[in-house]
Amino acid sequence: MAILPILCFPDPRLHKRAQPVAQVDERVRAIVADMFETMYHAKGIGLAATQVDIHERIVVIDVSEERNQPLVLVNPELVWASPETRIGEEGCLSVPGIYDGVERALAVQVRAQDADGHSRVIEAEGLLAVCMQHEMDHLLGKVFVEYLSPLKRGRIKTKLLKQQKAEQAER
Ligand code: ZN
Repeated sequence: MAILPILCFPDPRLHKRAQPVAQVDERVRAIVADMFETMYHAKGIGLAATQVDIHERIVVIDVSEERNQPLVLVNPELVWASPETRIGEEGCLSVPGIYDGVERALAVQVRAQDADGHSRVIEAEGLLAVCMQHEMDHLLGKVFVEYLSPLKRGRIKTKLLKQQKAEQAER
């Protein structure tokens, strides 16, 4: 297992569309293991493969307090979204230190394969539903700041580029 580097906004690779996984095999399970290690290390609740520069439809999630309920979504597809929405504060490992409100469906049903390749439908509401929608956006090349106003997004971009420059200078 390995901790993978996480791409940071506005890295253009975050806007690539992930390709479907043809077969859930050892190669995919190794990616999943690395993604969990990376997510837990970064103290995140979800990670899409896109964020670690792997452009395949793979997501790992754990929204539990105890960090012991790993959820693997391979080839996730939205089956249903509730018409009721809610605006909640979101953050992202690829947009460090930035939190803002995003409107999402309150509940969703998502069909996905697990780490053994078995397909099932997961019903979720609350934080898990938000997390699934956020991670599935990543697979489409979408980062949550794209829901914000162009002005806000511009400020975030400037701030993060400055941070990234400073970090590079320290190395
Ligand atoms: Zn994210």
